[in-house]
Amino acid sequence: MVTEKSAALMEKARQYIPGGVNSPVRSWNSVGMSPVFLQGAVGPYVFDMDGNKYIDYICSWGPMILGHNNQEVLSSVVKTCASGLSFGAPTEREVEIAELICEKIPHVEMIRMVNSGTEAVMSAIRLARGYTGRNKIIKFAGNYHGHSDSLLVDAGSGLMTQGIPGSAGVPEGCTSDTLTAVYNDLESVIDLFDANPDQVAAVIVEPVAANMGVVLPQEGFLQSLRELCTNRGALLIFDEVITGFRLAFGGAAEFFHVTPDLVTYGKIIGGGMPVGAYGGRKEIMEMVAPLGPVYQAGTLSGNPVAMAAGLAQLRILSGHPEYYTYLREMGERLYGGMEKIIKREGAPCTVNHIGSLGSVFFTEAEVTNYDIAKTSDTKEFARYFRFLLENGIHAAPSQFEAMFLSTAHNDEIVDYTLEVFSRYMKQRMDNLESELEER
Ligand SMILES: *Cc1c(COP(=O)(O)O)cnc(C)c1O
Repeated sequence: MVTEKSAALMEKARQYIPGGVNSPVRSWNSVGMSPVFLQGAVGPYVFDMDGNKYIDYICSWGPMILGHNNQEVLSSVVKTCASGLSFGAPTEREVEIAELICEKIPHVEMIRMVNSGTEAVMSAIRLARGYTGRNKIIKFAGNYHGHSDSLLVDAGSGLMTQGIPGSAGVPEGCTSDTLTAVYNDLESVIDLFDANPDQVAAVIVEPVAANMGVVLPQEGFLQSLRELCTNRGALLIFDEVITGFRLAFGGAAEFFHVTPDLVTYGKIIGGGMPVGAYGGRKEIMEMVAPLGPVYQAGTLSGNPVAMAAGLAQLRILSGHPEYYTYLREMGERLYGGMEKIIKREGAPCTVNHIGSLGSVFFTEAEVTNYDIAKTSDTKEFARYFRFLLENGIHAAPSQFEAMFLSTAHNDEIVDYTLEVFSRYMKQRMDNLESELEER
C-alpha cells in the first residue's frame, strides 16, 4: 500500500498546523503512524490521496449514518447554497428542524441550535446551573463532553490516547465544581450527592459511553440516575452527541425508556456540517436568552446550509424507522461475528456493542468503566489497526474510540471485514504461542 502523497502532505501540515491536524485523534499518534489524507468518499468507502480505497468505520465519527455523499442530503445543501451562505437572521429551515425534532422526541419540547457538540454541552451546563441556582456538576470518568474548560476532567478518548491528564491551560477554578463519578457505579454518584448537599446542578452522562471505547450502561443504571436526580433536585443531562439519532431517532433516551431533563446533540444532527443543539423541557429551555437570564448566542448558529444538511438527514431518518432495524442487524452481524471469532481463537479480547456502535478491547476483562478500559493493550491495538488498514479497512486509530456503521454498509462489506478480522486474530494467536514457546 502506497501512501506517499499523504506522508508528504503530513510533513507540510506539521509546519503550519499544530501536530499537522485540526483535531488530535487524526494525527494517528496513538498507533504510531502518519495518517492518510482523504480526498473523497461515497457510501461506505473513503479514498485517500494516493488512490487507496477503504471501507470506512469512522463515518466522520458518526455524522455519516446514511453513508457518505447521500444524494438527498447533498442536493438539499447545493440548492440552499445558491440562495446565500449565511444571513445572521432567522430562516425557515431552523423552524422546520426544531419542529421535526420536538414533534418526534417527546422529552425535547424546545431546542436551540449551536455549532458543535462542545458548544451544546457547555450551554446545557450553563442552563442547568442557571435553572437550579446550583454550581456543581457530576460527570463520569471516561465520558467525553467536548473540550470546554469545566468538562476537561477525566475526559476519555482524545486525552486518554494523548496521555494528557486533563489539559494544561485550564485553571483549577474552572474544574473545582466538576465532580467525577465512576461509570456504572451508582454508589459513587450517591456519595458525591451526599458530600455536596443541595449543590449539584446536574448529572451529565453519555447514556452509552463511546469515548473510552464503547461501554454500555448496566441494567438499571440510567433509570437509577433518573430517580436520584429527581430526588436530589438536580437535572439529568444526556449527552447524546453520539447516541442521538443513532440508537434510535430519539437516541438513548428512547432506546432505554429513560427521560432526561436536558439533552445535547451533535454529529448526526448536522448531516456532516458543523451543528450541535441542546434541548429539553420547556420550562427549563425558557430560561435561555432572550426569553430568560441564561445567555447563549452564535453568529453562525442555525446557518442555512448546515440546517439544510441536518434537516435533510433527519427527515430521511425519521421517515425510515426500518433503517434502525437494519443498523442493529448489521451491528449484530459485525460485532457478533467478531465475538465468535474471538471465542473460537481463544483470544484475550472483549467486544462491547450496541446497535451500530462497537469496540474491540484488547483485554480479557469485562469492560464496564474507564479504569477497566485502560487495562487494554494499546500496543496490540496499534498492530491491529495497521493490519486493518493494510487490508483496506479505515477504523478509528485509537483503542478508546468506537466503530460506526452506516446504512450504506452491507452484508458483503461486513463479511469481508470479518474475514480480515479472523486472519488477524489467527496470526495474533500464532504469535502469542510462539512467544510462549520461546520462554
Ligand atoms: C464528539 C462529542 C462531543 C463534542 O462534540 P464536538 O462537535 O466535537 O465539539 C461531545 N460529547 C460527546 C459524547 C461526543 O462524542
